[in-house]
Amino acid sequence: MRANVIRRWLTLFCVLFVWCGGGASATKPPIRVLVSFSILKDIVHEIGGADVRVTSLIGPDSDAHVFEPSPDQLRVLAQAQLFVVNGLGLEGWETRLVQSAQYGGPVVVASHGISPIETAGSGAPAPDPHAWQDVKNAEIYAANIAQALEDADPERAEDYRRGLDRYRAELKALDRDIRDELAGIPPAKRRVITTHDAFTYYGRAYDVIFLAPEGLSTDSEPSAEGIARLIRQIRREGIKALFLENVSDPRLMEALAREVGATLGPPLFSDALSRADEPASTYVKMMRCNTAALKEGMLKN
Ligand SMILES: [Zn+2]
Repeated sequence: MRANVIRRWLTLFCVLFVWCGGGASATKPPIRVLVSFSILKDIVHEIGGADVRVTSLIGPDSDAHVFEPSPDQLRVLAQAQLFVVNGLGLEGWETRLVQSAQYGGPVVVASHGISPIETAGSGAPAPDPHAWQDVKNAEIYAANIAQALEDADPERAEDYRRGLDRYRAELKALDRDIRDELAGIPPAKRRVITTHDAFTYYGRAYDVIFLAPEGLSTDSEPSAEGIARLIRQIRREGIKALFLENVSDPRLMEALAREVGATLGPPLFSDALSRADEPASTYVKMMRCNTAALKEGMLKN
């Protein structure tokens, strides 16, 4: 009898607790976050989980260098509570987009605080935007994003901090694994040809030299002279590790491979994740996938 009374009181207490806000973070709707491209979407999701509803302007397997917003996307930005971009010049269209959507909320630059690689390209030196290709930089992205989520949604600050701690441990393990995976490859074999220069941060972090016939951006065309020079280099150095990226036009690299008698490796994921049912659907999977492909290619050199 007494136990029954206690149980009834406990049930009533639990119901009141949820009603009165004790379970606010469970009942509060998720915060609306818009990001520029798929890799940021994954990082926001890893940290925020069910507390965030994250939408990406640029989807999987798509090029972030060239982007035209649709009217629907302008509406999504207008209603967002937080907008996360990469920065370092990747989203040349960002200011115009914010103005067109009349978005007045916070714009967070995920790459803030990384040490940028300057690149000459065809014009004046500019920062290379592909900083996420170094896992240590992805840790900085994650910390910036967690802080932005906390600022925008302080009630769930502790959830975001926990999400960051868990994800940071995963990134540290990933960085170690990449180093271990590549450790046995002799320096002379550490040369790779890719379509567009998206791997300089990967190269600096993990000691691989990347050569690319295209300039920094996927919208620039390689010169005939540049390609001829690259072919001479491939032959001279016996490079067999030739790769396409998931966001690039394959024709040039296929022609190059034929010319030097090499076979192309599987596509590398540079500026976008794969679709959900493919092997690079998260940032961590993407880095593991690229590393396995690069290793196999370099061992053929
Ligand atoms: Zn790129």
